Amino acid sequence: MKKVKAILLLCVSIISIIAFGQQSQQKNIIVILSDDHAYQAISAYNDRFAEVAPTPNIDKLANNGIRFDRSYVANSICAPSRASILTGTHSHINGILTLDEAFNGKQPTIANILQKAGYETSIIGKWHLESNPVGFNYWDVLMDQGDYYNSDFKTPNGVVRNAGYVTDVITNKAINWLENDRNKDKPFMMIVGNKAPHSNWIPPMKYLTYFDNVQLPEPDNLFDDFSGRGTAAKEANMRMESMQMGWYCQLWTERKGERDIYNDYGDRLWERAYGRLNNEQKAAIDQAYNKKNEAFVKANLKGKDLVRWKYQRTMKNYLGCIKSVDDNVGRLMDYLKKAKLEENTLVIYVSDQGMFMGEHSYFDKRLMYEEAVRTPLIAYCPSLISPNQINNDLVQNIDYAPTILDVAGVDIPAHMQGQSLTPLFNGGKLKQDRKSLYYHYYDYPSGRNIHKHEGVITDRYKLIRYYELDEWEFFDLKKDPTEMKSEYDNPKYAKQVATLKEELKQLRIKYKLPSEK
Ligand code: CA
Repeated sequence: MKKVKAILLLCVSIISIIAFGQQSQQKNIIVILSDDHAYQAISAYNDRFAEVAPTPNIDKLANNGIRFDRSYVANSICAPSRASILTGTHSHINGILTLDEAFNGKQPTIANILQKAGYETSIIGKWHLESNPVGFNYWDVLMDQGDYYNSDFKTPNGVVRNAGYVTDVITNKAINWLENDRNKDKPFMMIVGNKAPHSNWIPPMKYLTYFDNVQLPEPDNLFDDFSGRGTAAKEANMRMESMQMGWYCQLWTERKGERDIYNDYGDRLWERAYGRLNNEQKAAIDQAYNKKNEAFVKANLKGKDLVRWKYQRTMKNYLGCIKSVDDNVGRLMDYLKKAKLEENTLVIYVSDQGMFMGEHSYFDKRLMYEEAVRTPLIAYCPSLISPNQINNDLVQNIDYAPTILDVAGVDIPAHMQGQSLTPLFNGGKLKQDRKSLYYHYYDYPSGRNIHKHEGVITDRYKLIRYYELDEWEFFDLKKDPTEMKSEYDNPKYAKQVATLKEELKQLRIKYKLPSEK
């Protein structure tokens, strides 16, 4: 009997030691937040570019961690998405509805909450919220969108131009902070904000011609006639056919003293992109594009041929930018391994939204169609997440903040509107059952000319309400995954439409939307 008691006591002691060890070693957190990185362009998602443009380093995170297949944003545009990620709230709560508001960093964010809880916090790279970052021990951020080459970075000490390719520069800064600048007695939370692959897409020198001999697969609906949808889809100013040639297609020249013969906002291009290149970079870019540009001019393409050319040119450049993102994810992960931080660090790879890559003939985002609102989300942490998981729950970017606080062992403020995804890390279920997500886009009028809308997404259906147009769209995502035909007026779906209308009403109450006039 005594022997049994002694063994039991020993077991309890061992368990206590393990538990104490885990408690005393709080998780580190790294959020790699890329800009406009579509799930179509991450090979772990097995989508259109998986074969021609694999992303082995990002895939490794997914294969050894968890990939979320139904992850959405609350408002598909840069600044509002970033505000939702930081605060765990919808746009009307955090105050960033469009690209025009300055973020109030004093409201509760993952940065200031974790900092108060004893974390060392940092943000490096894209910030894009106008005000200076608050709640970060260290910040070194791009001015507005930043530039691909020789970008300017802002710190509390002023603005400094950093030579080199922006994705490499940001990762260098991140590794440097981890290695040399942080207080190593504390756990850390770092946001690595990539500019890439936001437009205007310019790959690094080594990938400028990487896809030259590749023919990218086109989406089936590259030439959408918009017959199955309403006014907003038709009026959206983001069709490939109207894409500005110089800015988006690197179709420039300085021959014969011309500034930019093909570009319809040439000055901006000249100042921002080409003008800041050094001689070596200029030579590399001229060599990569000049001959192709001359051939393009000679071909005098029109109509569908011109759209096809634009699609190939821009998406190759986009994928070239992503190759560099993937390389740099690999470089950061190599550092974590070498520094023995890999086991205890949660790495989240995410984009601020998805992106149209020629689907519906669009580029850009914003509209509540899958390519823009569905967003990659991958999480990796060997000591926290079981490997090789694919999750199909409806999750949203308002969930990231509660998840991060939960992982850090910090209380989640009651006003946060998302919920922690940690139960899903090992095949469990969300604490509160969730059958739908709420979406709201506000940025109108603006250059893209996309009307305001809100809507609801469920496991199978999507309802969109363009309230200033008094128009609705309804999609059966199972039968029509590319959302070509709204079934709003189809009597066969009357019951489902009514159910989703009620759901939308309930979500407006749940998320405390201002009451309508
Ligand atoms: Ca973005």
